[in-house]
Amino acid sequence: MKGVVYLGDSKVEVRDFPRPEPGLGQVVTEMKVAGLCGSDLHKYHSSQKWARGRKGMISGHEPTGVVVEVGLNVEHISVGDRIAVYHRVGCGHCADCMSGNDAFCHASGAFGRTQDGSHADYMLADARHCLPLPDDISFVVGTQLACTAGTAFSALGKIPARSGDTLVVFGLGPVGLAALLMGVGMGYRGIGVEIQPYRIKLAQRLGQGDIINAQEDDPVTVIKELSAGKGCGGVIECSGSPLARKQAAAVASRGATVVYVGGGHPHLTVNFGDVLGKDLTLRANSVYSVRHYFEAVAFLGQQSVPLDDIVTHRYKIEQAVEAFSTFDRGETGKVVFEW
Ligand SMILES: [Zn+2]
Ligand SMILES: [Zn+2]
Repeated sequence: MKGVVYLGDSKVEVRDFPRPEPGLGQVVTEMKVAGLCGSDLHKYHSSQKWARGRKGMISGHEPTGVVVEVGLNVEHISVGDRIAVYHRVGCGHCADCMSGNDAFCHASGAFGRTQDGSHADYMLADARHCLPLPDDISFVVGTQLACTAGTAFSALGKIPARSGDTLVVFGLGPVGLAALLMGVGMGYRGIGVEIQPYRIKLAQRLGQGDIINAQEDDPVTVIKELSAGKGCGGVIECSGSPLARKQAAAVASRGATVVYVGGGHPHLTVNFGDVLGKDLTLRANSVYSVRHYFEAVAFLGQQSVPLDDIVTHRYKIEQAVEAFSTFDRGETGKVVFEW
C-alpha cells in the first residue's frame, strides 16, 4: 500500500508499505477520506533531523473509511462498517482514557505523531478508537469530525446558549468555519472575522452569517453596530492572533463566554477591563473527547449543516507532494486525500 512520510523542510514522500494486519483488539480500515490538518503543516515544516527521528512513520490523523479486517476480541466493529477514528491515543486504562478523553491522558499520543496515521491506503487502530459513522454522514464530514469539526463542536459546547445570542468566530480556517456553520445550525446569529481573502470568499460563498474582512474594517466597531451596541453572547477565537484574542473579549457582551481555540502565540492579550467589567467567562479548548463525536453525529443527523463545502481540494494519495504544498500556500479551505 501507499503511505505518506515527512522528509523535513517542507517535503513529503509517498512510499510503499506492507498492508497492516490486525492484532488482538485491533481493526484495519481501508481509507476513504483523510484530511490534512493545520497541525500536519507544523510537522511538514519541521527539520530533516526531526523527520529522520520518525523512522518512516505515516502522517495523518483525520481517518475515515470502511473496516476490512478485525482482530480477535473485537465486538462492536465489523468488516464493512463505516467508521471515523478518534485521533488521540492514550494509555487506554486511566480515568481520562476510560471516559473517551485520551487527549488528557498523561501518555497521550496521536495517529501520525506517535504511530502510523491515516495518509495511507490502509490504517491500523485499536477498536476502542473506531467510531461508527452513520450512512447519512459523508466521509468528508467524518474526516472533519475526527479532528477540526470535533474540536469546533467541543468549543461550541462551552458556550451556554441563550435565545437570540450572536456567535462571532475569529479565524475562518477549517476549525473556525466549522464552528460558524454549526453555530448557525444551532440557532445563533453568526458573524465571522477573517483576514485571508480566499477564506473570506469561501465563508461568504457558504452564506452563513456576516463575514467581516478584518484587513479592511475594525471588527470591534462593525460588531458593535451589528449587535446594536450589545456585543456577542458567544465568541470563539480560532486564529491565534494576539490582536484577535484582544478583540474577542472586546466584542463579547456582558456575561458572555469567550472560548480560545487558536494556538501559535504564547501570550493571552486580553484587556482585563473587558474581562472584569463585563463579567466574562474565558475558556480554552484544545481538542475534543469521544463524547463530543457522538453528540456531533447526533446533531448533524437532525440539522443540515454544509460542512462538506468546507473541503475545497481533494487529492489522491499519490499526489501527496502537491496536496501538502497547495495546503501550505494557504489558498484553500479543508484539503483531503480521497480514495
Ligand atoms: Zn487535525
Ligand atoms: Zn490514559
